[in-house]
Amino acid sequence: MKLIDNNLYIGFDIGASSVKWGYGNCQQGLLCFESVIISDKTLSGFQNLFADIINKVDSKIGLTGIKGIGIGTPGTIERKSGKLLGVNPNLQFWTEISPAILIDEKLNLPVVYDNDANLMCLGEASLLEPDLDVVGITIGSGIGSGYVRGGKVFHGSHGFGMELGHITVVADGEPCNCGRKGCLEAYASIEGIKSRAKRQLKYSDALAWNLHDILHNAKDDQRLQGFIQEGERLLAKSLANLCVVLDPDVILLGGGGTEGGLYSLERMENIFSESLPGINRSNTSIRCASLGNKAGVLGAIVLAEREIV
Ligand SMILES: [Zn+2]
Repeated sequence: MKLIDNNLYIGFDIGASSVKWGYGNCQQGLLCFESVIISDKTLSGFQNLFADIINKVDSKIGLTGIKGIGIGTPGTIERKSGKLLGVNPNLQFWTEISPAILIDEKLNLPVVYDNDANLMCLGEASLLEPDLDVVGITIGSGIGSGYVRGGKVFHGSHGFGMELGHITVVADGEPCNCGRKGCLEAYASIEGIKSRAKRQLKYSDALAWNLHDILHNAKDDQRLQGFIQEGERLLAKSLANLCVVLDPDVILLGGGGTEGGLYSLERMENIFSESLPGINRSNTSIRCASLGNKAGVLGAIVLAEREIV
């Protein structure tokens, strides 16, 4: 047990199949980063997983220097109740609950939490100039989005702001997981493209594909290639619309879809730029996020350090 600092925070980033975690602080960044597969998708399984991780931190550096814990989670968090709303198809039990329930109260450590895309954006923004307006987009099984202004995450009045994945991009279009039709997520996310491939192109195994399978199959199938291009175009157009509304300095693209090359950054930049009014064109840039899958954990640490006094 070696205490390397007395001002550290533990960050968690809950994904569909794994929990990423680490510790660090704003000044030193991430001092440790690991990922654990979720083997038991129940609440008690989750609590045990988190307890195991905290025990691991204890055995590595001790808990005396840990000042608090930040958690990033998929899903929408209602501001008033602090609870997750809506059902996550990958983690069905994970709803109507406060994420703080994952941390044993006996540890007596303050816990803060936020949506995972918000914390990806916060983590990435913490590496840029502090006064920049930053939008973060995760392209993965869904489309996540966050907005950080003056170092703070924007939530809207009720906690439901920045749900870019669920803006309507096609009137009465493809069905979305949220129960509505024509959402951006139904066209531009990995799950959306798989779902279209199954429904419209009759690939019976499409829902089991990974990103590599999508790209591989699209080489020989113009219609599937067309779905990818449509997703790319609708996403770039949506980012231009968001830019007209928010006027941010930078839009950062992250998530497994970005890293796996689902879309071309160059083509997206062109569509984005062509879709913008002239005054926005030279002021907002689109870039790839720099932290990869570590952004959410760093964002959870940054949130904890900034919120916990
Ligand atoms: Zn939707």
